[in-house]
Amino acid sequence: MLPKQIFLTRAMEFKYNCVKHSFIPDIHIILINYRLSDFDTYLSTGHFPTYIQWKKKVKVAVQETEESLWRFRTQIDKDFKLFSRIHTLSKGLHPAWTFSRKHPLLIEQCRFIVNLCTLTRPYEEPYFLCDKCGRFFGDITVHIVLSCETFQSKRDKFWCDLNDIGPIEFSAYLHSLTDEDFLACILSCHTDFDLDEDERTMFQKACITNI
Ligand SMILES: [Zn+2]
Repeated sequence: MLPKQIFLTRAMEFKYNCVKHSFIPDIHIILINYRLSDFDTYLSTGHFPTYIQWKKKVKVAVQETEESLWRFRTQIDKDFKLFSRIHTLSKGLHPAWTFSRKHPLLIEQCRFIVNLCTLTRPYEEPYFLCDKCGRFFGDITVHIVLSCETFQSKRDKFWCDLNDIGPIEFSAYLHSLTDEDFLACILSCHTDFDLDEDERTMFQKACITNI
């Protein structure tokens, strides 16, 4: 029980401010950052949760704090504008990753579409000249996927694939989306439209193989 004795000695030194440099202050800072006050309770009362309770409490506290920090960062940083929207739509793991498990030959296309989701965009939308079609654009992904004339035939094929999925209402629904909503929909490989599982897989495949 030597480790426990060392721990208790250090803990008491920390409690009565006898020492400034040991592992206890480091642990204490981490616990405070995750709003876990059990160590302070333990120092004053001697009570501490059981191993199972403590493990569960730490897991919940770390998850809540990290999610809160993640939300704050994605809200204030304009670089994450599209990413946070896509992340909300797909709620967790990007569908391209689950798709790639069943279709390993398409893993490069899956990787590409996920990378597009995290591409940062210019804040002020400066305009660049497209060397393919000679038109100006602000966001290269929007331009290539939605409007560059050079890729019109690929875009037509993409729409053919999309039109083959589900009822005609799905095609009408996709056409009714704004450019921004449509881009978020196809980059996230996720739609709120009520598709069955096979149709949803077809939609994911159409996005992954055409973008
Ligand atoms: Zn172009």
